[in-house]
Amino acid sequence: MPWSSVIGQQNIAALLQRAIVSNRLPHALLLSGREGVGKSALAVELARATNCEAPHVSDYSIEACNECHSCTQMRSLQHPNLRFVMSLPAGTADAENDMKADLIEDLQQALANKSTNPYHQMRIEGATQIRIGQIRDVKRSLSLSATQRGRRVVVIVEAHEMTSEASNAFLKTLEEPHPNVTIVLTSSRPERLLQTIVSRCQQLACPPIDDDVLVSYLVDKGLCTTTEAQLVTPFADGSVTRARDFLGEDVQGNRSDVVELLRTALRGRDFRADLVDRIRAITDGRNKPRMELMLSLLAVWIRDAKAIAVAGYDAPIQNADQREALTRFATSFGHADVASILADIEKAVGALHRNVTPVLVFLRLMLSIRRSLFHARVKAPTA
Ligand SMILES: [Zn+2]
Repeated sequence: MPWSSVIGQQNIAALLQRAIVSNRLPHALLLSGREGVGKSALAVELARATNCEAPHVSDYSIEACNECHSCTQMRSLQHPNLRFVMSLPAGTADAENDMKADLIEDLQQALANKSTNPYHQMRIEGATQIRIGQIRDVKRSLSLSATQRGRRVVVIVEAHEMTSEASNAFLKTLEEPHPNVTIVLTSSRPERLLQTIVSRCQQLACPPIDDDVLVSYLVDKGLCTTTEAQLVTPFADGSVTRARDFLGEDVQGNRSDVVELLRTALRGRDFRADLVDRIRAITDGRNKPRMELMLSLLAVWIRDAKAIAVAGYDAPIQNADQREALTRFATSFGHADVASILADIEKAVGALHRNVTPVLVFLRLMLSIRRSLFHARVKAPTA
């Protein structure tokens, strides 16, 4: 895959290529940015380009040939010069030599998934810490002379998950740089890293991916239709992973669930029992990403209804396929204080993160939306 397969990170890709071509690649790099923006995918590209046997090189760029022996090994992420270090579950061996077979299998599976999807989050279930034994393994392997030419690239995935012992051991590795080795730390929480580690790395911040770039990516990959992509990207925070998580959910189904919920909350009297039933049905056994997606879809629906209430049927809206239904909703939103409703939705998302019971979160939110819409209606001047 070329550098351009890492979407939305052209500036960093260009910077890394210039560093490789001019032979000024630092010994340690820190790629920071939220999960799913392509940090470790960039590290893989770096390893591919620096190990390719016949790269296409210009003054400012270097692109792997994708055909040589090295490129073939890189494709499956099984290249001896590329190594990933990531958190392991508690209670497992911390040195790779003593790992149990099923853990090795999990690690292999993580690599296999990563090789087919560069945005795959390499995370083993229950894993929370990168431990000192793993860092010692890295140190040991770096002290052995390279078995083949090219550049050795060690990727410490979510490096802030190193324990304090591991961090201190790692600091020593950074202080004794090896020739032809680049250590790439990736982190979505760089503020948790030791300052002494950060200061020894060249830091590159990977920005969130633009919505339109994300939409084209999802559609080009055949993951969804343009409409679905446009529905999920506003909530994806510029992250491929988050967008894909949301796509794993049935967006249209979730949207109709949440619209039905709103419709029930806005009925005349006797709505309470139905509302509680509906909330139970949509929150029962559901995971957090899905509930978060529903709240996001609700927010967009409400913004769209307000847009139609203000600018009429042809207002620019996100749920373009639901213009008729939205127009019927719009009558309730003419005087609605949408900003305060959206703030309530934000609060509900926060409450889900704090593990407040979902039924309670949704009930509180729907009642407050009902109150603000009915309140607006009473206050509305009569024509
Ligand atoms: Zn090659």
